[in-house]
Amino acid sequence: MKNFDKTAIVIGSGVGGLATAVRLARKGYAVKVFEANESYGGKATKIEKDGFFWGFGPSLFTFPELLDELFKTCGRNPRHYYKYHRIDPICNYFYPDGTRLSAFADKEKFAAEIETKTGEPRQHVLQHLKRIGKVYELTKDIFLFNSVHKLKTYLTKKSLTALFQLPLIGIDKNMNRANEQQFCDKRVVHLFNRYATYNGSDPYLAPSTLNVIAHPEYNRGGYFLDGGMPDLSRALYQLATELGVEFHFNSFVEKIIVENGEAKGVMVHGIEHKVDVVVSNMDVVYSYRKLMPEQDAPLRIIEHPKSTSALIFYWGIKREFPELDLHNIFFSANYKEEFNHLTHLKTIYHDPTVYVFISKKYQPRHAPDGCENWFTLINVPHDAGQNWDKLIAEARKNIIVKLSTELGVDVESLIVSETLNSPKTIEAKTLSYLGALYGNASNDKYSAFLRHPNFSSKIKNLYFCGGSVHPGGGVPLCLLSAKIIDELIV
Ligand SMILES: Cc1cc2nc3c(=O)[nH]c(=O)nc-3n(C[C@H](O)[C@H](O)[C@H](O)COP(=O)(O)OP(=O)(O)OC[C@H]3O[C@@H](n4cnc5c(N)ncnc54)[C@H](O)[C@@H]3O)c2cc1C
Repeated sequence: MKNFDKTAIVIGSGVGGLATAVRLARKGYAVKVFEANESYGGKATKIEKDGFFWGFGPSLFTFPELLDELFKTCGRNPRHYYKYHRIDPICNYFYPDGTRLSAFADKEKFAAEIETKTGEPRQHVLQHLKRIGKVYELTKDIFLFNSVHKLKTYLTKKSLTALFQLPLIGIDKNMNRANEQQFCDKRVVHLFNRYATYNGSDPYLAPSTLNVIAHPEYNRGGYFLDGGMPDLSRALYQLATELGVEFHFNSFVEKIIVENGEAKGVMVHGIEHKVDVVVSNMDVVYSYRKLMPEQDAPLRIIEHPKSTSALIFYWGIKREFPELDLHNIFFSANYKEEFNHLTHLKTIYHDPTVYVFISKKYQPRHAPDGCENWFTLINVPHDAGQNWDKLIAEARKNIIVKLSTELGVDVESLIVSETLNSPKTIEAKTLSYLGALYGNASNDKYSAFLRHPNFSSKIKNLYFCGGSVHPGGGVPLCLLSAKIIDELIV
């Protein structure tokens, strides 16, 4: 029997919580995970209904090497746990003027496709991809792989070089402005503006540094996990249990116990559990407000405007569409107005950009023969007390009209199964504050510094992981939050 001399508790089993539990167990900690839900995964869980399968949230898999590295660090062969494939095309784009283009995995082919379909010189696309690749290399060590809140992060030669190249990094203009300067065609601007939505931001406000979000997809590749994204949670859970992590489901943590400025444990079902280290994977706003309301919260961070949320219809469709691929985007005719509605009016535009993800295209088991599993998502504001029933009913109608027009069929008549998630249900199921998908919005140039650190500067032995803290939302960044904690806990 293993003899652990250090103990840790992780609150929540989202991607960040699972990865942190794995890393602490590998370090020799006896780890317990308390999860409010009946199973693991948080936003990266699964939905099964009427013979169809969908991922609850994430669909695109990038930076697979981060997941592989975690398994290898634990002495495991990742291929014994999960498999993935490079996807091609990465995404199909449908524009209201009838233009259809495919983002091919091969950069030259993608740039040529853009030139053929829109007239945008291919060199503009290739230059853009090269530039964002350079920005990624310059910034990754400061903003992604290390804590931006530790001085030592800035004291490397690479970090100092990056700081001196701030104009190239592009914090002085917004994404849309930079893309308008780079591209002549509005459709191409839209395509690259879209990457702001990957962390719930607005391309008309977010600093152009965030154009870097397109880098993994185009410069390194988009991937599909054989079982879909819920397979990532399943694989992490399997690894964690093999390493001895104890999971307690249906176990809502009521309190983080803090004594003399030190985290001492948690309270679950009225019972105290004392440990050496506490890691919260719960949204950081609720970590403060619900679990330790008596502690001073860093108000500038937790009161920062939140990211957008999503409205998702998980549809079972009784037909197959060869013109659709794994990822499909149906653009709004007025992208700027769509974001005006999202960010400023806090409502849903009548002509939203619609994302349809169909994992059946790569995994036949995900829908019955002759059918497809449509994960149909639009960006919506986080919850601000809107009349969601009314907004959802209108949005559903508008989405169906849009898709029916584009595809030339009555989509409504093909829906044989329907499940829905909205900001309210996302908040209820994952305890994400206001149902925001990615914690704080990244709509201003200091956003990277306005995410909570992965540690508490006031409470010893208290750490934070997951999408609401540094380095940000999205599966790869949640994995990195766990890695940073691993390095912080000596
Ligand atoms: C619709 C949607 C689409 C997305 N698309 C993508 C995508 O394509 N690519 C991508 O990379 N990312 C995407 N994301 C974001 C990605 O899913 C998240 O960033 C990531 O999964 C969040 O993981 P997390 O570690 O923050 O934990 P969460 O998933 O937020 O889970 C937190 C867990 O903690 C538990 N918990 C909370 N409080 C307590 C408590 N007090 N006691 C016990 N348990 C508690 C919750 O029940 C939950 O299980 C998407 C998200 C959504 C919702």
